[in-house]
Amino acid sequence: MKFTLFVILLVIVVIFCVSLVFLNPGVTTIVLPFVDPFRDIPQAAVILYSMLVGTAAAMAAIFIKEIQRTVVTWGNERKAKKHGQLEERYAHGLDLVAGGRLEEATACFEEILKKEPQHPGATTALGDVHYSCKKWDKAIEYHSQARSITPANIRLMLKLGRDYAEADRRTDAIEILSQLTQIDGDNLTGFVELGKLYLKQGKPEQAYNAQCKVVNLTKDPNRKEKEQQILLGLKCELAGEQSAQGDDQNAIRTLKDVLHKDKRFVPAYIKLAEIYQKGGALDEAISTVERGYRSTPCMVLLQRLEELALAEEQPQEAISAYRQAIGRAPDDLAPALALALLYFKLEMLDEAEKECRYLLSHGKDFPLLHQLLAEIYFRSGRFEESCGRYKHVLQKQRERLFRYVCNNCGAEKASWEARCTSCGQWNSLVWQI
Ligand SMILES: [Zn+2]
Repeated sequence: MKFTLFVILLVIVVIFCVSLVFLNPGVTTIVLPFVDPFRDIPQAAVILYSMLVGTAAAMAAIFIKEIQRTVVTWGNERKAKKHGQLEERYAHGLDLVAGGRLEEATACFEEILKKEPQHPGATTALGDVHYSCKKWDKAIEYHSQARSITPANIRLMLKLGRDYAEADRRTDAIEILSQLTQIDGDNLTGFVELGKLYLKQGKPEQAYNAQCKVVNLTKDPNRKEKEQQILLGLKCELAGEQSAQGDDQNAIRTLKDVLHKDKRFVPAYIKLAEIYQKGGALDEAISTVERGYRSTPCMVLLQRLEELALAEEQPQEAISAYRQAIGRAPDDLAPALALALLYFKLEMLDEAEKECRYLLSHGKDFPLLHQLLAEIYFRSGRFEESCGRYKHVLQKQRERLFRYVCNNCGAEKASWEARCTSCGQWNSLVWQI
């Protein structure tokens, strides 16, 4: 078939050449610069020669192009093969990390870096491995190196910030996280970390600003509420700082703002009362905690009220506050116990005894209560009853002596367990006095 085609083509070419010779019988003269003219050249020969030279030139051009293409393809293939091998090693290294074989993983990544020192994946992975081994300096070294390859990589900046924070290089950590939040103004993790660092650095104002961003960026309603509480706490911290610098007016304004946002935020009442007390405005301090207790019935506020009332030498204020609290929530026995202790402190022994009995009648039976009663009886000269109560206290203490504590999670158990039922740790329960 091919041969037939060749013969047909040959015949066509021969016919074409013969017809050229017949159609162009004349001769011509070709004049070229710097050489003698070529005379009596057959016209057909000129045409054929030109055609041959043209075809040869075109074929040479195609040949050169083809060679060039082959060389480039070969180079790319070689590069791709090398890259493929490295990526295979890198994937293997990641598998080793996932399997907890960190030393082998380190060797694998180092081997990759020997062949391609700028391999971003291997550099980052080495930093990660060193981080998980708590080798902060090495982690910083590799993560910085990875960052020099991709400077605006957000993930790397977060890692580096974390490395610096662990290595106690807070200024460096803050700097890198600030850069990050400038590049990515909506980076929630960045602002959370930044806030923590500022607080540790003793910079509540900056911590507060970072936390504002965190609250704005948090979408999940449950988390948002928690972040809001942190924000209010930071504002109290800020007020403390303002007060420490002598700017009590500003501090009071800040705290009132906190309470305007959440009137159940106990730390703000406590701090506010503290500032009033420091400035000699005890009345104001007392009414602040009273107002607080009305908004949120919290024992801490009552205890603070007692301290302030005693400092003001107005114990009646504390007593009536406790009485109101007992009347408002009879099931909550904490105010009754606090009142019993206050009566005892004030040497109002009959009233103290009455409160203790009230608690006992409500099923509250703990050593402190019996101890208090024993003390009350002792001071009233009722020694036999006092002795009886002390015996009771001793009995209770003895019972408490036999307890087991988990040295892993701190849970207390009445009897020994081979495996802590709270945290699942084996052989962790010890007898503790
Ligand atoms: Zn435990």
